[in-house]
Amino acid sequence: MDFDVVIVGGGPAGLSTALHLQHIAPSTRMVVLEAERYPREKICAGGIGARAFRILERLDVEVDCPRVNLDAVAMRVGGETMVVRVPGCGAVVRRIEHDHAMAKVAMARGIEVRDGTPVSSIVVDDAGVRITTPTGDLRARCVVGADGVGGITRRAAGMGKGELRAQVVELDTEGLPDDLPRDTCVFDFATSDLRGYAWDFPTVVNGAPLQCRGAYVIRNLGPDDARARCAQYLASRGLDIANYRIKQFAERGLEPGVPISSPRILLVGEAAGIDIATGEGIGQAIEYGSIAGPYLARALAEQSFGFSDWRRRIDRHHLGFQFQIRHGCYRAFYGRRRPKIERVMPSLTKLFQVGVEDFAGLPMSKLALAHGAAQFVTAFARAKLMA
Ligand SMILES: Cc1cc2nc3c(=O)[nH]c(=O)nc-3n(C[C@H](O)[C@H](O)[C@H](O)COP(=O)(O)OP(=O)(O)OC[C@H]3O[C@@H](n4cnc5c(N)ncnc54)[C@H](O)[C@@H]3O)c2cc1C
Repeated sequence: MDFDVVIVGGGPAGLSTALHLQHIAPSTRMVVLEAERYPREKICAGGIGARAFRILERLDVEVDCPRVNLDAVAMRVGGETMVVRVPGCGAVVRRIEHDHAMAKVAMARGIEVRDGTPVSSIVVDDAGVRITTPTGDLRARCVVGADGVGGITRRAAGMGKGELRAQVVELDTEGLPDDLPRDTCVFDFATSDLRGYAWDFPTVVNGAPLQCRGAYVIRNLGPDDARARCAQYLASRGLDIANYRIKQFAERGLEPGVPISSPRILLVGEAAGIDIATGEGIGQAIEYGSIAGPYLARALAEQSFGFSDWRRRIDRHHLGFQFQIRHGCYRAFYGRRRPKIERVMPSLTKLFQVGVEDFAGLPMSKLALAHGAAQFVTAFARAKLMA
């Protein structure tokens, strides 16, 4: 064997997995294979909840890159704008800078990261896995698929594309007088027939303060065109899409109950699936890595690579709980009850507060959750009485 573990993909999921595995089992022979050369672009708005920073802090890791710090999250819905202030709840980064900085941390800790190394084939046999790269084949005991939405590892594990799919279009524009303050990221659900949302995130491009705006369209809920939706949103803000460089990419949600591993292959991050309700995936990718590190260390210690309980491991973790809640919310919010939900949303302040605190990585108090749930039940009962 050349390696104990080969990690395919050097984005946040792959690098977080490597950092966590090295932390718990420093003698592991591993390599991260990244198809592109750093600094590499990843189409993404770059909003990260502070939960991800807290996870990395436990390893003494700080990803040192330019960022716009966030102190609030706003949601436009039902004709109102709700703003929840949680100082330090997150940040907006540019992925080209963030992922390069994270790769540098991994390399500084002695982790081998080979960029410019696209994996073209992964074959599992009784003894291990053969991974083909342009510079030759590698043998490993197991492989981690951290190669994102279009990666090869998922196919090698015998899984399809997945059903929960989103299309996302984004661009960077100048600020507008009616933008909210630059410490606030905005999710705009004002267009009721859009199965998704538009967004405004403050960003910084080569030192210039700009706004990243875009449209997130959940494709499995019906045909729609993210680019047209984005143009529509920009027009509503007085901007013409034709004046900007448009970037478009897909996202994959984690499907309930679907396996995300096969013998000797473990999927993490968007290769497995992230939150389909919002398309938030950077923090989740980092959290996947924090679970995969100890999980792999144990598999190596026991020389057991069936990985049949990987899905269960995720489901029982905070990450899985978050996925389940958000999956339930997405089905309710984008379904036929949307008009009613829109009417009651502005009164669900406590639930929204709990959601932002979770994004920030603050402990989720059971009391606050119960308060939010009570608010939800009361608001719906009142809406029913008034109907
Ligand atoms: C337009 C858009 C906006 C978004 N905005 C946000 C946001 O604001 N906040 C948020 O949290 N999430 C956002 N997301 C989602 C987020 O970008 C992803 O969920 C996140 O990047 C997933 O991380 P990952 O490490 O799993 O995969 P990726 O970041 O996609 O990394 C996968 C890596 O694998 C490499 N790779 C692929 N194939 C191979 C191969 N064969 N061999 C070797 N390497 C390979 C790729 O080059 C890449 O570097 C957005 C997505 C889109 C499309």
